[in-house]
Amino acid sequence: MKVRGERDVNSYVLSCSTTKEAVVIDPAEPAAKILAQMEGLSPRWIVATHGHPGHVAGKDEIKEATGAETAMHVADGKLFLRSADRYLVDEEELEFGEFRLRVMHTPGHTPGSLCFLVGNHCFTGDTLLAGGIGREKPETDLRQQLISISTKLARLPLKTALYPGHGAVTNLENELRTSPVFQPMRQ
Ligand SMILES: [Zn+2]
Ligand SMILES: [Zn+2]
Repeated sequence: MKVRGERDVNSYVLSCSTTKEAVVIDPAEPAAKILAQMEGLSPRWIVATHGHPGHVAGKDEIKEATGAETAMHVADGKLFLRSADRYLVDEEELEFGEFRLRVMHTPGHTPGSLCFLVGNHCFTGDTLLAGGIGREKPETDLRQQLISISTKLARLPLKTALYPGHGAVTNLENELRTSPVFQPMRQ
């Protein structure tokens, strides 16, 4: 089988060291590699920042292996014909152990793009990458994406660490200072 999708999608596994409950953010391929990261953990959620193929390619395999619930925004569920156990809304919180994953609806890259916040760690999918943004035609509404970035992400505390769907980890302060995305706001 060939999976159509992007290469080198970042998947993240977060876990509570007390309860071992875990969340997978963007279940990419190969699923076996992600499953190996979850040894000894009890996955509760498999969440997708958006419905682009590369970001969800390992979803079904990881769900089958772990029994965790899958979740995404309904708009991307419809657009990309993907099913989930739960459809997330803005400001909702998912619990895993002693932590809470806060859902931020940040439409633009896709209509159902989400960012997830855990403490001062923000998982931005393709909404905001280090030094730029993710753009894919035809789904991307660039204007809407920039509004989401400026009204939601740019208002997080400066020290917020950013974990994008591709490329390097960064932080908000650094992006505000150096990224071309924020150039108009600096002038
Ligand atoms: Zn994407
Ligand atoms: Zn992507």
